[in-house]
Amino acid sequence: MRIASVLVPLPVPEAFDYEVPEGMTLARGDHVAAPLGPRLVRGIVAEVFETTGSNRRLKAVEQRLDDPSLPPGTVEFVEWAGRWTLSAPGEMAATALKGLRAPRPRPERRVRRIEGRTPNRPTPARTAVLEALGGRSLPSAELARASGVSAGVVKGLLDEGVLETVEIEAVAAFDPANPDHAPSILNPDQAAAAQAMAEGVQGGGFRPFLLDGVTGSGKTEAYLEAVAQTLRDDPDAQVLILLPEIALTQALIERITARFGAAPAEWHSGVAPPRRRQVWEAVVAGRCSIVVGARSALFLPFRNLRLLIVDEEHDSSFKQEDGLVYHGRDLAVARARIEGAAVVLASATPSLETLWNARAGRYGWLRLGARHGAAVLPDIALLDLRESPPDPQTWLSQPLREAIGETLARGEQTLLFLNRRGYAPVVLCRACGHRMTAPDTDSWLVEHRYTGRLVCHLTGFSMAKPRHCPSCGAEDTLVPVGPGVERVEEEVRQLFPQARTAVFSSDTAPDARSARALIQRMTDGEIDILVATQAAAKGHNFPRLTLVGVVDADLGLRGGDLRAAERTYQLLAQATGRAGRADRPGRAILQTWTPEHPVLQALAAGDRDAFVEAEMAEREAGSLPPYGRLAALILSSENAAAVEKTAAELAQAIPNAERLEVYGPADAPLALVRGRRRKRLLVRADRDVDLQGFLRAWLARVKVPGSVRLTVDVDPYSFL
Ligand code: ADP
Repeated sequence: MRIASVLVPLPVPEAFDYEVPEGMTLARGDHVAAPLGPRLVRGIVAEVFETTGSNRRLKAVEQRLDDPSLPPGTVEFVEWAGRWTLSAPGEMAATALKGLRAPRPRPERRVRRIEGRTPNRPTPARTAVLEALGGRSLPSAELARASGVSAGVVKGLLDEGVLETVEIEAVAAFDPANPDHAPSILNPDQAAAAQAMAEGVQGGGFRPFLLDGVTGSGKTEAYLEAVAQTLRDDPDAQVLILLPEIALTQALIERITARFGAAPAEWHSGVAPPRRRQVWEAVVAGRCSIVVGARSALFLPFRNLRLLIVDEEHDSSFKQEDGLVYHGRDLAVARARIEGAAVVLASATPSLETLWNARAGRYGWLRLGARHGAAVLPDIALLDLRESPPDPQTWLSQPLREAIGETLARGEQTLLFLNRRGYAPVVLCRACGHRMTAPDTDSWLVEHRYTGRLVCHLTGFSMAKPRHCPSCGAEDTLVPVGPGVERVEEEVRQLFPQARTAVFSSDTAPDARSARALIQRMTDGEIDILVATQAAAKGHNFPRLTLVGVVDADLGLRGGDLRAAERTYQLLAQATGRAGRADRPGRAILQTWTPEHPVLQALAAGDRDAFVEAEMAEREAGSLPPYGRLAALILSSENAAAVEKTAAELAQAIPNAERLEVYGPADAPLALVRGRRRKRLLVRADRDVDLQGFLRAWLARVKVPGSVRLTVDVDPYSFL
């Protein structure tokens, strides 16, 4: 008898076995409907095998569905990702089917001639319509326009049965990318890097690279040439380019369109579902060669994936924290290994993990020396706020104000960077000192002036700003404390009333379209001073931007989690790297209370190696990533006692293991979120320990009740 293991989209740890009915042909990757309890569910066949009689009574597969099968590499990747992240392989498979589940675009209604039918009264208008139509089909409005008649004439012919309406399935055509449409002339470093990447692809097999070069050195130019070479060698090759932020995709899509004479496919949550369906179908059919997307594009059913590029690979936005917890960069490397493809991790500030792999020789290390052409890196100055403190209730020091004034006078642009949304991060009662907090979450409410509300950035809870202090009842005593981007913009407007200012944050640019519009205004020089959170600090290329002011360079350093220093270094290097990318030299001013901090010293000296050495040494001393590995277990429930009990049981059940420690359980730093109590456990292991195996063995010993949610976070980035 033949058995099919089927991945069903449920939180279960493995595939379910079904009997394959006589006469049904099934293979790995096929779609089936199979009974589960009283229902039928859709699933993906993971494996088909023969057995001689089974003592289990298995239910039979109900039906093979004729959707396009997932290619073998996609199925293997889904299974691997499930094992690596300790999540259900069926749920991973469901991620790979998102595009197929999206609705088809509505078919287009068109009219065409019914063969052999002629109008009873052939007026000149009617004849014109029939001539314009010929043997084609056209939307009726277009037909009326083309024949210069009113819509009524077309309708008359339809009513009379000379024309008929047909529905045409909208199939997206992806024009083939032409590798030689508009190539750039690469400088020698870029050419060498492009060649190495292309040779990596040509070699077949898994080939990882770090593409390492300062902002503006032409990493994008270099990898686009590798893409071109890949397509020259194999016109059926597929390439995936991953970006950390949807806001970055538009610029890259435009560059690719200009370079290859055809637009790539786009894949992220901002793409309308019917379009996603078209992209999914084109990818599985091998009808589109270049896909630009966010991390979820990793789950697309590529047939012939030869090259993956992870641009801004250091960016922690590649880590998905909600739902399935995974790191897009790490999974991209895994997918390349499974597909036998090349993968390029590109960054001006590579993650310590990637640098560690490059230093050990596991990744080919491609370096681009300087900025391309005349552009030079900005001059970075630390501004000691102890010497020039801003006036009370203002945030820009005198020297920074002067620099903004000079930049304005030259007709150039300024970016003021502050990684804080809203007007003020804290709202306090002047009378009693009460701090406004969210009702069911351990977080302070942030004042937003644009909307006049107090907002919890963690859960989205918001309320109108009250007139009376909820604690002491005093009237009009709630005051904002500290700056957010809106407040800095307010100061800028007062200082430079003639300047055109704007705020760029996830509040002012909540979706891809509004982000694109803001970026365009900045690119076109319609904004003089942009006050921005990290949303604008990454990847963009603003030719007239010559001054970057970092309002609070100490901000990220205060958090104190594992990657605080690394993240701050990367973010500030990226933000300051926005200055002076074209032919105008740029400068960056970092306001700080601790100019002696090693991270800031390294930034000012432009000495990335010094920073990396110091940070690596600290990580090594603690056997922390990349020298060791971490995993977190997060328990949460509305029932505090149930969380306590499960945490205690987990602590009792820790398997014996060497070169591995478990810390906790402890209250999470965010101990209450949306009314749910949270506790955490943290596992640290040496690199050669089978961390996932340990976690599986551990979790198998404990029954987590339905009222408690357990999240496993392998290689955690958030420690909250
Ligand atoms: P990165 O990806 O390293 O930030 P980009 O590839 O975006 O760098 O290049 C920065 C700027 O320099 C872009 O405007 C790009 O068009 C230009 N540039 C880089 N290399 C070349 C080249 N070989 N020929 C022409 N322009 C180049």
